[in-house]
Amino acid sequence: MGSRDYLFKVLVVGDAAVGKTSLVQRYCQDSFSRHYKSTVGGQERFTSMTRLYYRDASACVIMFDVTNATTFSNCQKWKQDLDCKLTLPSGEPVPCLLLANKSDLSPWAMTRDQIDRFSKENGFTGWTETSVKENKNVNEAMSLFPRVLIEQMMANTREGNTSLSTQGDYINLQTLSSPGWSCC
Ligand code: GDP
Ligand code: MG
Repeated sequence: MGSRDYLFKVLVVGDAAVGKTSLVQRYCQDSFSRHYKSTVGGQERFTSMTRLYYRDASACVIMFDVTNATTFSNCQKWKQDLDCKLTLPSGEPVPCLLLANKSDLSPWAMTRDQIDRFSKENGFTGWTETSVKENKNVNEAMSLFPRVLIEQMMANTREGNTSLSTQGDYINLQTLSSPGWSCC
């Protein structure tokens, strides 16, 4: 039997300074720099993205900074922007993980219950916390995507319930074994 490669475009969005560039660098190059310059440079909180940026994406990560409540509430706008500009060929919204980044910092500006409720209310696939700085949960979170995408492909052929290990919407990464995938 032959094998096939699949290429998935995964978007990473969220407010300025939540750690998007750091996440991609960590995941692709296993490096972290605290001195990294902000990509956009401005202080804007939410900017609608063009349809072109979203085009042909299979999945999305929306990130916030656990010490900054505004970046959390803006995730609703990011999710709505995503859903109104991009759907899968089946018409379904694309799978979207909510990442609570900078989990190494305290205090958190929101509770885990609030994040869980927010994740459900806004149709996220699930959420988990990461620290890109301490390399906590980064590979685990990113390696959920092949699993989510495969489960979704299968759910399209049979009215399936997903088997991701969750408590509420929280994804317990410790209980999952992850299929391999690579970046870029
Ligand atoms: P972006 O604007 O969303 O791309 O954010 P950056 O990746 O440029 O990160 C903004 C700042 O947050 C940088 O100073 C990073 O070093 C820092 N940062 C990113 N992830 C973490 C994290 O998990 N913990 C802490 N403490 N700082 C982080
Ligand atoms: Mg950036």
